[in-house]
Amino acid sequence: MHLIGVTPTLDEQTGRITINQDYLDALRRAGALPVLLPLAEDTAAWEEMLRRVDGLLLSGGADLCPASYGEEPLPVCGETAPLRDAEELYLCRRALEMKKPLLAICRGHQVLNCALGGTLYQDIAAQYSDSISHPRHDTPRDPVHPVSVTPGSRLAAITGRSALQVNSRHHQAVKDLGRGLTVSARAEDGLIEAIEYPAAPFALGVQWHPEALSDRYAEAQALFNAFVEACGA
Ligand code: MN
Repeated sequence: MHLIGVTPTLDEQTGRITINQDYLDALRRAGALPVLLPLAEDTAAWEEMLRRVDGLLLSGGADLCPASYGEEPLPVCGETAPLRDAEELYLCRRALEMKKPLLAICRGHQVLNCALGGTLYQDIAAQYSDSISHPRHDTPRDPVHPVSVTPGSRLAAITGRSALQVNSRHHQAVKDLGRGLTVSARAEDGLIEAIEYPAAPFALGVQWHPEALSDRYAEAQALFNAFVEACGA
């Protein structure tokens, strides 16, 4: 059974870590054994975690510190988690180097972009467009907007779809694409909703939350199935 390392959310004030059960359920349905990766503060521990897992899932959470992409925080930037940033940026870069399969969700998708030198909109409505409401935290487990899937992308191959209906729990988004990444889905307002790293055996980032759809929508579960399958290749 493939072991998938999952990064949880750390509340740096209280020291509590949390994870939505949906991530773990989606991985279990795909036949994998998820394990939570504790916060550590040294690269030796991060290396050991990566060595032991077959794949890495970067989960959702707080905003990245704008310093991660060379900007000062604007008032519209939300809460950040600097310790988690450091660990996840490291794990992401090393997973790509080690050719460990990577599934990066929401904040994780933004980590993937920034790990390769990309940048973010600190707030979509303030800096890009308010034509589609992306921070739809009112309906976290239901599709709220469509995305068009890039023909020929890994995402297209996995889902067999040219368009997907997705949920949307984000107020930030990818701005400039990181080195070597390609766009695999966009919203109707043009915003990047999924990215992939073709040089890796499997590295996919999605801005939505497929784990919260995967119990009812086969094309959402298909992402986890393809990811776990890649972990055994
Ligand atoms: Mn969205």
